[in-house]
Amino acid sequence: MPGSQPNPKPKLHDSDFRELVMRFSGLPGFPFEESGRNELARVLRRITQTDFQFLDQVITTIMDKAKVCPTPAEVLEIAGEKRYDPNQPIGDPDCPQCHGVGFVGSTQLVAIGGLAPYEADVAVRCQCRDEATGDRS
Ligand SMILES: [Zn+2]
Repeated sequence: MPGSQPNPKPKLHDSDFRELVMRFSGLPGFPFEESGRNELARVLRRITQTDFQFLDQVITTIMDKAKVCPTPAEVLEIAGEKRYDPNQPIGDPDCPQCHGVGFVGSTQLVAIGGLAPYEADVAVRCQCRDEATGDRS
């Protein structure tokens, strides 16, 4: 073991991150390309390399609300906001667009080399969040 950092928690394994990522697999827009799943695993690793439970909670929060698979950036954002205040909804709870979820589903044309372009569901940041994080005075 290089160094002697006072870190009592063992680091999570690749298989742990893969298992967590697979929880998104029930959502439309879940990347069926391995590279896409690797990106989700990468952001989970960035959030924490040791706290499986926290990552599990972040994903549960997303699964309870999301209608489409979040992008890596959104996972990161939700984790950050959850750590800040676990009870705070991400978006405006009264928002007619997202009902507090903070992002809305949208359809985007995806073109992967060699394949005919197809429409995929993606999560788009809801406009109420921009208002919520803006100047409230
Ligand atoms: Zn909204």
